[in-house]
Parts: sequence; structure tokens; C-alpha cells
Amino acid sequence: MPRVPCAICNAPTATRPENPFAPFCSARCKTVDLGKWLDGVYRVPVATDDIAEGGETPFFDPEVHS
Ligand SMILES: [Zn+2]
Repeated sequence: MPRVPCAICNAPTATRPENPFAPFCSARCKTVDLGKWLDGVYRVPVATDDIAEGGETPFFDPEVHS
């Protein structure tokens, strides 16, 4: 049977249809990969460091509370 390295842990991993989690060795590694992907999606557009260095917080207006 063909074997490929798991995309997460490099363990020898069966391919589909034998392994429903391919290209991962298990559901656990598939979840890890999904977590990485989502983490990247949510982090990239935020760029909080750039906002802080700009000296302005667009969503905070002290006038609102006075
Ligand atoms: Zn794995």
C-alpha cells in the first residue's frame, strides 16, 4: 500500500481511501493542521502592532463618555 509522510508529524501515513484523514496520519493531526490554518486566517488581517504604533485607536473616542 502507498505510504506518504503525515503533513504534520511525518509519520508514515496511508493514502485514501484506506486513510480518511489523508494526508494526515490521524484525526488529531488533521485537527492540528486546521488549527494552524485558522490561526493564520485570524491573525494576518489584524496587524495590531501597526495600529498601536500609529498612535491612534479608531474605535475609542473619549468625547463619548463626557
Ligand atoms: Zn501525523
